[in-house]
Amino acid sequence: MQQNFQNFQNRNMLDLCNQLKANGVIQTQKVYYAMLNTDRADFTINPYIDHSQYINYNVVISAPHMHAYPMEYLANHINEGSRVLDIGYGSGYLTVAFSKMMNDKGLVVGIEHIEGLCQFGYQNICKHNAHLIGNQIYLVQGDGRLGYPQYGPYNAIHVGAAAPDGPPSQLLDQLALGGRLYIPIGRDKENQWIYLFDKDINGNISYQRMISVRYVMLTSQQLQLMGQN
Ligand code: SAH
Repeated sequence: MQQNFQNFQNRNMLDLCNQLKANGVIQTQKVYYAMLNTDRADFTINPYIDHSQYINYNVVISAPHMHAYPMEYLANHINEGSRVLDIGYGSGYLTVAFSKMMNDKGLVVGIEHIEGLCQFGYQNICKHNAHLIGNQIYLVQGDGRLGYPQYGPYNAIHVGAAAPDGPPSQLLDQLALGGRLYIPIGRDKENQWIYLFDKDINGNISYQRMISVRYVMLTSQQLQLMGQN
């Protein structure tokens, strides 16, 4: 596999991933491989800088390092055959990257509530991964605060927007035994933290607080489109 990386064609992605590795943000081969194989050029116009970028509808695609963190925190829970729920898929980047972590041999359900972003993400994913849609990737439009029980329970749930009042109970309910929920918690423009909620094999939930972050809000369509989170 090391050999493949050296021969990797996309020099920009290689440089970006090597930088994230040197910074200690990427720690596992699984995440390194998945990021290398998910070309950010499919998802945004300034793909190789480590910054978030505006993608309309008052939201951004997260910066590369802010994509790497959830991938690392969820790495042990995303294996071949796993089920992953990606809430607020926006550009579609993480939806594809999660699939790559499973060598495209699992299921990622992406949920997004803004129609224009659903189309944007769908078109981005179609550029190099159209064959996954309807097979290893399902995209749905809906309110991610409710999760998506139809395809659960999930080994990993990623929430790409900050929940002001803690994790919606539906998301904890839809975690598989042994599963993990990654969710930013906090109010707009105030302190937000990443929380990891783990459901053990007996169904008991525990949590830990990780890094300080700044995400857009997990909110209603109406408030987001008015820019009032
Ligand atoms: N993870 C994506 C997008 C991050 S921005 C990326 O990096 O490209 C957060 C996303 O969450 C936006 O696309 C926003 O529209 C979406 N979102 C916010 N509240 C939501 C809700 N209640 N249900 C579904 N999606 C939501």
